[in-house]
Amino acid sequence: MKKLFLILIMALSITSTEALAVDFNFDEMKYTPAETTFRLFAPASAKRVVLRIYKDGINGKATKTVRMKATETDGEGGAVWTAAVKGDLKGMFYTFDTGRGETPGTFAKAVGVNGQRAAIADLRQADPEGWMQDKRPVVKSPSDLVVYELHHRDFSIARSDARYPGKFMALTEPWAIQHLKQLGVNAIHILPSYDYGSVDETRLSTPQYNWGYDPVNYNVPEGSYSTDPYDPLCRVREFKLMVQALHKAGISVVLDVVYNHTYDIDRSNFQRTYPDYYYRKTADGSYSNGSGCGNETASERTMMRRFMIESVCHWIHEYHIDGLRFDLMGVHDIETMNAIRKAVDDIDPTIFIYGEGWSAGSCALPGEKLGMKANIPQMPGIAAFSDDIRDALRGPFSDDTKGAFLAGIPGMEESLKAGIAGMVEHPQVDYSKVNYSKQPYALQPTQMMAYVSCHDDMCLVDRLKASIPSLKKNTRAAEDELIRLDLLAQTAVFTSQGVPFMLSGEELLRSKKGVHNSFESPDSINQLDWGNKQRYSQVFDYYTNLIALRKHHPAFRLGSAELVRNHLEFIKTDDCLVAFRLKNYAGRDDWRNIIVVLNANAEPRSVTIPKATYTVVCRNGKIDEKGLGTAGQDGHVEVDPQSALIMHD
Ligand code: CA
Repeated sequence: MKKLFLILIMALSITSTEALAVDFNFDEMKYTPAETTFRLFAPASAKRVVLRIYKDGINGKATKTVRMKATETDGEGGAVWTAAVKGDLKGMFYTFDTGRGETPGTFAKAVGVNGQRAAIADLRQADPEGWMQDKRPVVKSPSDLVVYELHHRDFSIARSDARYPGKFMALTEPWAIQHLKQLGVNAIHILPSYDYGSVDETRLSTPQYNWGYDPVNYNVPEGSYSTDPYDPLCRVREFKLMVQALHKAGISVVLDVVYNHTYDIDRSNFQRTYPDYYYRKTADGSYSNGSGCGNETASERTMMRRFMIESVCHWIHEYHIDGLRFDLMGVHDIETMNAIRKAVDDIDPTIFIYGEGWSAGSCALPGEKLGMKANIPQMPGIAAFSDDIRDALRGPFSDDTKGAFLAGIPGMEESLKAGIAGMVEHPQVDYSKVNYSKQPYALQPTQMMAYVSCHDDMCLVDRLKASIPSLKKNTRAAEDELIRLDLLAQTAVFTSQGVPFMLSGEELLRSKKGVHNSFESPDSINQLDWGNKQRYSQVFDYYTNLIALRKHHPAFRLGSAELVRNHLEFIKTDDCLVAFRLKNYAGRDDWRNIIVVLNANAEPRSVTIPKATYTVVCRNGKIDEKGLGTAGQDGHVEVDPQSALIMHD
C-alpha cells in the first residue's frame, strides 16, 4: 500500500517536472540598455535570494542589492527567482546569493578575474572581424580526423619565438599553425579551456600550472589563458581568435568538457545556487565520488541534464566548437549523452563527440545506465577511448613498469587486432582473448578512439622506458630502440580503423621525465622541447609521413563496420607480430591491396603473404609513399625488428 502510494507520488512528480521544466533554462542574465533582467533556478524554500551589482569583478562594495522573487516553480521544490534592474548596466558585474555565499550563478557567460563575479557584457562585442563568416572545417567522417590533444601551456610556453606563450593566442601564431599543418593533424583537442579554479588569475606573473580538471564556470573561457583576465570580453575574444585561426588552417577544435564533477562542493556555483540538487548521493546520504575528485554530478536530474545540453550548445553557437570530449563520460547517464548527441545533431551532425567510457570510482547510478565503454552500442554517434589498444601496446594502466606488445611480450595480439578493426565485430577477431572488451564495443569504427598515450599516465617515451629495462641505458643503442618502438606504436594507432588520437609533443619524442600524473607539475616537466624537432627529425618526419599516408589512403579509414569486415583481413602470424591486408581497393583506394605488418620482436620476422610484387612504402622506421623498393614476389616478406612494414600492390 505504502509502496503503491510512493509510486503514485513519483509518477505525479515526474510528470509535473517534465511539464514545467521545459520552460526553465539557464538564461541567467539578459541585458538591454534600458534594463537588465536576472533569473536563477534555486530552491523555492530559500528565505532570501539576493542579487548584488558591482562596479568591478573583484573587491569593492556592491553598488546595488536587490531581493529576487520566486516567480515560477517546478513542483519539486525548485523555483525561478527573478529580478530586474533599470538603467544601463553594461560593464558592471553581479553575483547571486541564496544564503550560502556569493556566486556568479551556474551559467555565467562572462566573468571577472578568477570567475568570482559574472559580467554584464555584450558578447557580440567580443566577435573578431570576420567571425560571422567563420566556418567549421568540412569533416565527411570522424575517421578522417587526426586528433591532437594539446595543453595551451605545454605547447607554447617554452617556444622562444612565441608572442603569446601559454595563451589561447599562441594558437593564432604562424609558427604554431605551421607546425600543426606540417604534422598534418586536423583536429586540436584542447585540454580544459573553460574557467577552472586551480590557477590564480590575479598573479599570472608567477608561473602556475594545472591541467584544469577543476571546473568553476563552465561557460566561460579560462582567464589565465587570456592576456587580461580582468577584462571579461578579452578571454572571449581571444578564444574566438584562436578558433578562427585554426579554422582558417582547416583545423577543427575539440573542447574537453568536464561536467562530471566540480572543483569542490561547498563553494561550487551549483551548490551555492541549489544545495544538493546537482550532485549524486549514495544510499547513506554521503556524496558519491565516481569522479575520484570528491563529488559527482547528477546528469539524470532534469536541470543538470538541461545544463549540460545548454552548455554544449553555448560553446558550439558562441565559439564555433567542432567537437566535444567528455571527461569521465562513464559518470554521465546514457540518456543524457544521447540527448546531447541529438541537440548537437540539430545544429550540425558532423560535430564529433567522444569520451572516456569509464569513471574513476563507483557511481551512485547503476552501471547499465552509465556512459561506459560497454554501453557505447546504446549511444550511436558517440565514441569512446579504447584502453584495449592502448594497453595492448604499452601495458596495463595499473602498473607503469609492466610492458605488453611493444615490450615483446606475447599475448596481446588479439587485443591489438581488435583495435586495428576499430573495436567492431570482425570474423577474425576473437574477443574472448581481448584484454578488456570481451565483446566488440563499437557498432562502427568511428566509435573507437585509437591511441597509445594521452595527457593522463606516462607519455609514450616515459612508459617505454619504465616498462622495458634495456631502454633505461644511456646509450645510442637504447635511444635507437626507443625510437623504433615509439614509431611502431604510432603506426598501430594510425593504421587503426578507429579515430586516431595523439598527445601533443609525441612527434617531438616528448618526455615528462617519468612523471605519471603531471597535472600540477611545473613547466620543466610539461613543456614541449622544441629543440627535439631538429634533434629527432627522423621521429617528426615519420609521424608526418604516417599521418599523410593515412590521409592519402581511404583504406586506412573506412568509417563503416561493414567495409571493415569486407576489406580488412588479418594474416596468420607468430607471437608479437600482427599483420593485416586491406584488400580489393578498400574504400576505393588507388592501391589494390595494402599489407601492414607490426613486428614487436627484437629480431626480424618473416611473414607469409599472398604472392605479388609489392611496393614497400614503410620499412625500418622510414616512410616514403613513392616507394622504398619491392618485396613479396616469393610469397614472403621480411620485417625488420621492432618496426612496421607497409606495402601495396
Ligand atoms: Ca580560472
